[in-house]
Amino acid sequence: MTGPRRARGYSPLSVTPESRAVLDGVLAQVRARVAQGGTPVVGFDLDGCVFDTRPRQVHIFRELASRRGYDELYRVEVEHFRDWSLANSMRNAGVPEAFIAAREAEVRQWWASHFFTTDYVLYDHAMPGAVSFCRDCAEAGAIVVYLTGRDINMRAGTEEALRRFGFPYDDASAVLITKPSFDMDDTAFKESALEAIAARGEVVSYFDNEPANVNLFHERHPGARVVFVETDHSPRPVEPDEAIPWIRSFLRA
Ligand SMILES: [Mg+2]
Repeated sequence: MTGPRRARGYSPLSVTPESRAVLDGVLAQVRARVAQGGTPVVGFDLDGCVFDTRPRQVHIFRELASRRGYDELYRVEVEHFRDWSLANSMRNAGVPEAFIAAREAEVRQWWASHFFTTDYVLYDHAMPGAVSFCRDCAEAGAIVVYLTGRDINMRAGTEEALRRFGFPYDDASAVLITKPSFDMDDTAFKESALEAIAARGEVVSYFDNEPANVNLFHERHPGARVVFVETDHSPRPVEPDEAIPWIRSFLRA
């Protein structure tokens, strides 16, 4: 591949033989560790990984459009969110440049004051196939760890969303680790959580859509199958390590 390896945006129905093989390989690794008497851990990031945050974002745009009479913003649909730039999302939707120039700061302020809230995480959708994959990991004997940059104030809504979609959660086989404070850097938080995760068992796999996070796990758990989930990610100029496989979908059929 030439040029920087950047995620192309969400395509959660794009199942391929390669992505199926990655997911089946993780389950095989879980079963192998259990057969050897180990306690395998499979970790999952939430936003842009096992949850599709785009419906939350569309909902936020629709409320702003309705409340302030910005009819231009009704054009924004899920497929227009391909990176972390709200201006790009509006542009992708055909929102006029004059509107973007005049209102971008206001849109960003509205977005930020709703996106990072416990109520609005309930507008997310489970990524297709993610629930059955997490369940299969748990049934095969893995501890499922949800490791998220969402902070403690978003925990109640996150737990509710996990339950509503049927992710393994309310038993000993699953645990949710949230960030203690909003201001903490996500990757620094995930680094600090590594020990807590390792205390639960042997990390055999970890899924995340942020290049810096998959690189961190790949470095710290070289024996684990770390997987880059290709959706969107921060504009930080970091590329996933060459050894890390990419998937766009958790579907296996
Ligand atoms: Mg994420």
